[in-house]
Amino acid sequence: MTTSTKDYSKYFQPPSYTDAKKRGKEEIEVHYDFSIPEELREIGKDKHYLIQTYGCQMNEHDTETIKGLLEQMSYRPTEDRKQADIILLNTCAVRENAEDKVFGELGHLKKLKLEKPSLILGVCGCMSQEEGVVNRIMKKHPFVDLIFGTHNIHRLPALLKEAMFSKEMVIEVWSKEGDIIENLPKKREGIKAWVNIMYGCDKFCTYCIVPYTRGKERSRRPDDVIAEVRDLARQGFKEIMLLGQNVNAYGKDFEDIEYRFGDLMDDIRKIDLPRVRFTTSHPRDFDDHLIEVLAKGGNLVEHIHLPVQSGSNAILKRMSRKYTREHYLELVRKIKAAIPDAVLTSDIIVGFPGETDEQFEETISLVKEVGFDMAFTFIYSPREGTPAADMEDDIPYEVKQARLVRLNDTLNVFSKASNERLKGQTLEVLIEGESKNNPNVLAGRTRTNKLVHVEAPKELIGQFVHVHITETPTFYIKGDWVKEPVAEASQA
Ligand code: SF4
Repeated sequence: MTTSTKDYSKYFQPPSYTDAKKRGKEEIEVHYDFSIPEELREIGKDKHYLIQTYGCQMNEHDTETIKGLLEQMSYRPTEDRKQADIILLNTCAVRENAEDKVFGELGHLKKLKLEKPSLILGVCGCMSQEEGVVNRIMKKHPFVDLIFGTHNIHRLPALLKEAMFSKEMVIEVWSKEGDIIENLPKKREGIKAWVNIMYGCDKFCTYCIVPYTRGKERSRRPDDVIAEVRDLARQGFKEIMLLGQNVNAYGKDFEDIEYRFGDLMDDIRKIDLPRVRFTTSHPRDFDDHLIEVLAKGGNLVEHIHLPVQSGSNAILKRMSRKYTREHYLELVRKIKAAIPDAVLTSDIIVGFPGETDEQFEETISLVKEVGFDMAFTFIYSPREGTPAADMEDDIPYEVKQARLVRLNDTLNVFSKASNERLKGQTLEVLIEGESKNNPNVLAGRTRTNKLVHVEAPKELIGQFVHVHITETPTFYIKGDWVKEPVAEASQA
């Protein structure tokens, strides 16, 4: 670890990849006794916080927890940086450009910190789990007051107090954590809610930093998940998204009960809540029981996000995805047979080290065979600390770019065709708000997660409506509001 002019003797627990990589047999402890100490409950009185969140839904959900903690300490939210007494950057480590944005942001925040020395500047999220990032902040951004890791969120009240009264940078990043902390406060807003069902990932795909930044797979107890979902249903949420880096591994770590993701979905299906989604799936752990349960429909929607990453067995092997093209296609066949309306989406990487033209063509042929409605597509770029970063990144950038364009063109053909098929149909749409580009148009989502634009009264925001589809551009669909009321959780 780099040395620094500051004295970091107290509250100095930097991340370690060596520890983060270890997977032991130690017990997963669930803690139900979380509470904010009495003396910290007023510490934020008349003060404001601002959190900038980068990356995935897991991070967005962590931000809800951080907001919940801060508000229980009497802090109030603000969008105005000048008014903020705490600014936290909840960061993402998955791609290099996300990291660059955070470092750029720290550069801007330095000025603010100089103008207002009492401002607490903090960095949390996946980047704070990276050794190199913590070193760089210590060296180049010493005005940062607080760095805490993804396993340390529940420690925020104590760490914040320390940062307020200490002259030193407070760093607490546990690299190895097997515990689950229940009862953390969450500030949820709107009509959709995220629910963590498990944490961490044990898959160690060679390009991915997540197993190092989020720790080992550990599932929340079914009773705790179900109680949370029931509570959200009582509060009137219309849609929940069950979250995990690999939700299909849910329950594998239970030693006392045989209860997997399919069982959880079957229990949640019985809760009176209109829509239930989940992300993200790993094809290897997606079992027949889960398909059987999803086929029951009801509040379990017909959208499955199933990252494939590549259509070439050789590349899948180099990525250590632990399935083959044939396994993936067989899984898709089973899903389509059981759920004929299923909409499949995916994540695909092009230009992985060593990917030949022929191997890229295998990805194109898989895309055509599955007929994905949509996919998030990425050009491979190495992440420091991952095994793939040691492979020769030998595909020229222009080749990677050309492959990306070709892949996106192929995907667009299927997106367009799938949208075309909806023309003339009447679909159930959950209206989420005004469209980003036109406040006179409302935007919502079908059960299969397609974005729908419709002209309708603003009072319908947060409600289910029927929309008769009339136009189908590639990235959204458009239609007319059908005024009959909607029975919730109907098939669309
Ligand atoms: S399954 Fe692979 S890509 Fe997904 S979080 Fe785990 S290691 Fe990363």
